[in-house]
Amino acid sequence: MAIEYDKKKKYSPEELMEMAYQESLFSIHEHGHKPDPLVGAILATSDGKILATSHRGELRIGEHCEFTLIERKLKSENLKGCHLYVTLETCIDKVRKPPKRGCVTHIYKARLAKVYIGIRDPDIDIENEGAGELIAKGIIVEDFHFDIAEKIRLSLAEFIKYKEAQKLIIQQEREENPIAYLKQAAINTTISQFSKTAVDEFIRNSQATFIYPSKAFNDWALSFELAMRDGEIIMPTKLGLMLFGEHAGDTLSHTIFKVELDYGNGKAEIEDFDGPVATQLPRIMKFIKDKGLKLTIDRSSAKREIVSDFPVEVLREVVANAIIHRDYTITEATNYLYIGPEKIIVRSPGMPMPPLQLMIFGLWICLLLAEIRRLCSFITEWGWPKQGGLVCEI
Ligand SMILES: [Zn+2]
Repeated sequence: MAIEYDKKKKYSPEELMEMAYQESLFSIHEHGHKPDPLVGAILATSDGKILATSHRGELRIGEHCEFTLIERKLKSENLKGCHLYVTLETCIDKVRKPPKRGCVTHIYKARLAKVYIGIRDPDIDIENEGAGELIAKGIIVEDFHFDIAEKIRLSLAEFIKYKEAQKLIIQQEREENPIAYLKQAAINTTISQFSKTAVDEFIRNSQATFIYPSKAFNDWALSFELAMRDGEIIMPTKLGLMLFGEHAGDTLSHTIFKVELDYGNGKAEIEDFDGPVATQLPRIMKFIKDKGLKLTIDRSSAKREIVSDFPVEVLREVVANAIIHRDYTITEATNYLYIGPEKIIVRSPGMPMPPLQLMIFGLWICLLLAEIRRLCSFITEWGWPKQGGLVCEI
């Protein structure tokens, strides 16, 4: 379903935003447990002729309508100088999981001249930043006037209410101390979302006597604040979800470890390693070994040269260190590893930290036993400061 229009007619901006609003009402919901926004968009020439219309999820569930227009419906068209009418502020790279890009990037790449925005996005990570990034890229932004904006706002009432509540929680979390943050409930998750593989590995390594799932496991998780009780439901804490959650990144997106392999020649591959955090290291190392070790450099002389193997052992220590010592209370950034023909970069948010509360529980020790032993010898050999003290007590 979509709105109807006259291809030859030149519409006014008011008419186009009204039509984008009508189009937004066809949006398809993707989540059952949280409200998704209704979003409609229209791409038009600068004098108001409609090239295409789109609504959220029109061609694929969850697909943003700016992407549908630029990268799918009008992919082969020259869109330079065209105008976009969109009911909700456009999203940005930082809120999308690579290889997906924010709609701002698609708009910029398509060289659109102007974006009319119905309302700003109430999401704390997008609000005003979407418009700000467009402006920074030289694209004209025009917010729509009150009456149509109010109509859009009404149609998004449930979504806005949800985002406002989320905003309050996030603001509060950012003010509280790290321990409190990790002990908070991971809202909308259950203990059944723990990865059986990760828990079984932990049980094996720690020689615990319980099995998972079981009441004994739940009791243990409750006693170590990896879970909390909400009436009859046992819900993971953020710490619990981070350690064992099969898809911890869905709720705690900052726990994803991003790895970028740059093969030179403009070819790159980006892979996201989701939870559980405790099993990220072996998965990342396998990926690097499978994909990364045979990088080639295309020299300007056109001679292809195979780069010799990386210092894998050192790399493993650095990645392990990034996982163990990062500050997991910083929710705006993820761990990141870049491997290119010329250099290797590892970014870990925050100042180097003692391995958080994880060490108190001895969980890290059990889960990453083999890896940490290696890390200890590395720390000792290199005379690293005391920050790894607890780790070295194994
Ligand atoms: Zn978007």
